[in-house]
Amino acid sequence: MNLSQRDGGLPPDTVVQDEDTILADSERLIARYHDGAPDAMVQIALAPCSPFTVTRSLMTATAALAERTSVRLHTHLAETADEVAFCLAKFGCRPLDYLEQAGWLTDRTWLAHGVHFDAGEIGRLAKAGTCVSHCACSNQILASGTCRVCEMEQAGMRVGLGVDGSASNNASNMMQEVRAAYRNRAAGTTSKLSTFKDGARILRAILALIQHERPLQVFSLMAVGLAVAGTSLGMPVLAEYLQTGLVPRLPTALLSTGFVLLSSLSLICGLILDAISRSRKENKRLAYLAIPAPVACE
Ligand SMILES: [Zn+2]
Repeated sequence: MNLSQRDGGLPPDTVVQDEDTILADSERLIARYHDGAPDAMVQIALAPCSPFTVTRSLMTATAALAERTSVRLHTHLAETADEVAFCLAKFGCRPLDYLEQAGWLTDRTWLAHGVHFDAGEIGRLAKAGTCVSHCACSNQILASGTCRVCEMEQAGMRVGLGVDGSASNNASNMMQEVRAAYRNRAAGTTSKLSTFKDGARILRAILALIQHERPLQVFSLMAVGLAVAGTSLGMPVLAEYLQTGLVPRLPTALLSTGFVLLSSLSLICGLILDAISRSRKENKRLAYLAIPAPVACE
């Protein structure tokens, strides 16, 4: 925050910093902590608070810094009718125009709230790939309006859930947000999920996750199945051989051998993938533990 009460902003003068300090510290934190990998455990996003608390100049400079360092951008926007009036008075435009002028209307950005966007603005957000974090409980507690989630989704926007700040949420409980946002279907809307097609996709995703996270269990199960098939085919052939000394059903014997070999290969695959998965997790933990504990501010 760098726009205090002295300059017409919301926060007290004692809690703001100047633009250079904020940008330098943001850059320091990105260099020190940001991990750009898809399975990263620590990622930095730049999040100037809201139009009430940050100058236009800091918003613009933050967008440039995010572009240069490939980190994401976040702010609280179009939350209340007050904020729309504030933007019109201070910047001469609506919150989304202000956002665009500051270089923020991109797929790098996700916005908390997005309550006071009109249909045209939702179209512009969808086109830019900007996402919204729907903070249902906070919007209800503050009576600031309702985010047009259905219209946003119909326009192709990605909408997530958020808890807003603790002060306007009371609990910061994500499950409470799920209940508040999705418990009752909005009137006139239908489910976008198809029972079989999407059910199969969800099942496939769950199986892929299990295979990725617990390869030994998955491949052991496959090994047991193949071993059972192999032995149940092979046992009669073996019994016949022990009785007569002949193998009249050679194809069955070969099939049985094949199943048992595949079973062993499956077990070996499971062991190798398990070792890889363990070392991947261990490396992530070590990288995480290498980050020193924060030092208390003076
Ligand atoms: Zn907020």
